[in-house]
Amino acid sequence: MFPNNTHNAITFSFDDGVTQDRRLVALFNKYNLKCTFNLNSGGFGKDGVCHWQKWSAPHNKVNSAEVKALYSGHEVAVHTVNHPDLTTIADEKIIIDEIEQDRKVLEKLTGDKIVGMAYPFGTLNDRIVNIIKRNTPIKYARSIWATYNFDLQDNLLAFRPTIHFLDFKKMYELAGTFLNTEYYEDKIFYIWGHSYELDFEDAWEEFEKFLAYIANKKDVFYGTNKEVLLNGQK
Ligand SMILES: [Zn+2]
Repeated sequence: MFPNNTHNAITFSFDDGVTQDRRLVALFNKYNLKCTFNLNSGGFGKDGVCHWQKWSAPHNKVNSAEVKALYSGHEVAVHTVNHPDLTTIADEKIIIDEIEQDRKVLEKLTGDKIVGMAYPFGTLNDRIVNIIKRNTPIKYARSIWATYNFDLQDNLLAFRPTIHFLDFKKMYELAGTFLNTEYYEDKIFYIWGHSYELDFEDAWEEFEKFLAYIANKKDVFYGTNKEVLLNGQK
């Protein structure tokens, strides 16, 4: 059971900490939705451009000085210092440093205890999961492989999202089911993405419509990843 006596929880997770997060946070706040933002402390303040098919979008990282205020009311979590594919790194110490140094910087900036993570590129394997388990206080870590379902998962260090946020057709189908089913055990609708992707295809308006559709239902708990995935854990 989640807070406000419901079995239905909705949570969002956005990666990379780019300046489009400012507009996205304002949208989440407008609809009383909660998100976890996974940040690379090694990239703060760095500018770039991201290309996808025929589109391109600014890929400028937020500044460290704005992290606390910008993400206030949401959750900040680890996305490693430099965003490497962890599965390609042989040296265990480098993997631990990528996670732990990011976590420590983010804890200092936010003043919060950080227990969550999203894998850069969504890549993981058993070795990486075991390294995290043995050497860090990280309690959940997310990949990018959609389940298209709401079931609770046993391995929170290999957590899979329900869906990527630009898969609108499927997302509405899932939301229709989720909002109109009375569940008798806990279910989680978990949506992930990158805010810069909203600049591709100019999807801001469409995403806002979706948020309006799922928001402010009295029998849904809207929480950060930590609040939802670690619900009931001390
Ligand atoms: Zn990323």
